[in-house]
Amino acid sequence: NFLDGEFAGAVLVFRDITRRIADERELADARDELQTGRQRMAHVERLSTVGEMAAGFAHEVNQPLTAITNYASVANRLVSQPELDFSRMQDTLRKLQAQAIRASDVIQRLRDFVRTPKENKVVKDANKVMATVLELSEVDSRKLGVGLEIQPFDSVLPVYIDDVQIQQVALNLIRNAMEATSQADQNAMPVKVALVKDHDAVSITVRDYGVGLAKDAEEQLFTPFYTTKATGMGIGLSVCDSIMQDHGGSIAFTRQQPGTEFTMRLPLYD
Ligand code: ADP
Repeated sequence: NFLDGEFAGAVLVFRDITRRIADERELADARDELQTGRQRMAHVERLSTVGEMAAGFAHEVNQPLTAITNYASVANRLVSQPELDFSRMQDTLRKLQAQAIRASDVIQRLRDFVRTPKENKVVKDANKVMATVLELSEVDSRKLGVGLEIQPFDSVLPVYIDDVQIQQVALNLIRNAMEATSQADQNAMPVKVALVKDHDAVSITVRDYGVGLAKDAEEQLFTPFYTTKATGMGIGLSVCDSIMQDHGGSIAFTRQQPGTEFTMRLPLYD
């Protein structure tokens, strides 16, 4: 205000910008989510293809098996007749054989699909591969309300891998661990992942403090279609096992008190 040309006071304007900051933060969050979402999509695409493939596979292999059962009953009936109809018997056996071959072709196709082509393998630092897995697990972590801690090794861990596939294995183990944790009603302990050099191998452990394995898990865990989940496909661990074997590595688990620990091993590249 000016009184007789003299400066007499000032007006201060306070504008509440909390809303604007919140909006900007939300926008940034949304952008982050989109980014991780995109990366994740690229990675899970193949995994969900495996899931769909498993459903198709179950159906495709079930058809010839049903046919085989039917032809076997026909053959049984034929041999129990007082006079054997040779030509019908031969025809039935030929059809049965064709169906068995078809079933084995379907299985072979699934094997080929899971097997890694050599060209996709490159030398990577296992620590870096797992740093990407940490990012990719964020969505699951948020959805299931279970944290994830990754302890990298203090030096480079070179491995010769198809990194997308190895990430799939780790993601699958971490998702299982988070699901087991969220099923346990204790305080949700974060899932802990640690990388260590173990002689000429890299070992990556995924430890959870969740519900633990079912009683009969030992014999069945890596068998396709074994699941204890209502919506589970039970294909995850069997695919993980194939991928690890294909990399000259392995996958194993031990029961813990409480929870479970899975270990992925990969040969160290030199
Ligand atoms: P899915 O997750 O579709 O069931 P998986 O092959 O990944 O298929 O797992 C098979 C089963 O192994 C699960 O249904 C669950 O019973 C058991 N399992 C795997 N990981 C864990 C874990 N960390 N804790 C407890 N059970 C587990």
